[in-house]
Amino acid sequence: MLKLSKRLEWIAKQVPAGSSLADIGSDHALLPSFLALQGRIVKGIAGEVNPGPFQAASKQIRESRLEEIVDVRLGDGLAVISAGEVEVITIAGMGGALIASILEAGKEKLAGVKRLVLQPNVGEANVRSWLLEHHWVLTDELILEEDGKIYEILVAEPSGQAEVSNEELYQTRTLHGGVTMDREQLIKMGPYLIRQPSVVWFQKWEQELGKLEMIRRQLALSEAAESRSKEKDLELEMKRIKEVMACLQKDKTSSN
Ligand code: SAM
Repeated sequence: MLKLSKRLEWIAKQVPAGSSLADIGSDHALLPSFLALQGRIVKGIAGEVNPGPFQAASKQIRESRLEEIVDVRLGDGLAVISAGEVEVITIAGMGGALIASILEAGKEKLAGVKRLVLQPNVGEANVRSWLLEHHWVLTDELILEEDGKIYEILVAEPSGQAEVSNEELYQTRTLHGGVTMDREQLIKMGPYLIRQPSVVWFQKWEQELGKLEMIRRQLALSEAAESRSKEKDLELEMKRIKEVMACLQKDKTSSN
């Protein structure tokens, strides 16, 4: 039996049993193979834009004797599917900007799709923004650590189908400690993830602060006036992140 990484396993769990699935950027087609071998999808499409991974996916499907269930297709993003062909689309293991551009380029193919399961390696805010602007509603967010890397998984459904609305999800919130989170900050830090922030979520934002601090130090070395204003913006951004983290940490401690 195929063994998935923890990251792919968590993504697989978000695909409802009995679905038809397109996995875009499938590489070795591990996700659709695993789901097909477990009888959890009725049909799968493994999409790949690059010939190497396309061949690897074809080999995987052939060797697992899954050709009747999983179709491997060569093409850019959602160009490999037609509208109404699948109920679920997974796009995992790429940057958030690339995921958003794939959705944007193929948005007419999303008609009839009931669920998107998206796992950006970086730039999650790009994905949340795209979903918000295109009337998709986040229904869940997960965060996990594997081999020293932190991953977020975003699950979305078309507005109308989802039980929550984007208005509710991204409404400005005041945390218990009095810190306010506006839409922009919720898009950045995750409207579900901040509700019960896990240890991994705190680790992620400690790492992000570390990256921002490195950029700030570089800017501090420059004498250009533009660098001063960028430094100020960065300091403000870091201050906001720290305030949110402190508030949520306090909540966590008091609820324990
Ligand atoms: N989805 C798998 C996973 O999460 O383990 C594989 C991730 S792999 C790092 C990213 C894959 O996306 C590569 O195989 C790459 O060729 C493919 N890819 C990148 N841009 C793409 C696009 N526009 N359309 C389809 N596939 C794409």
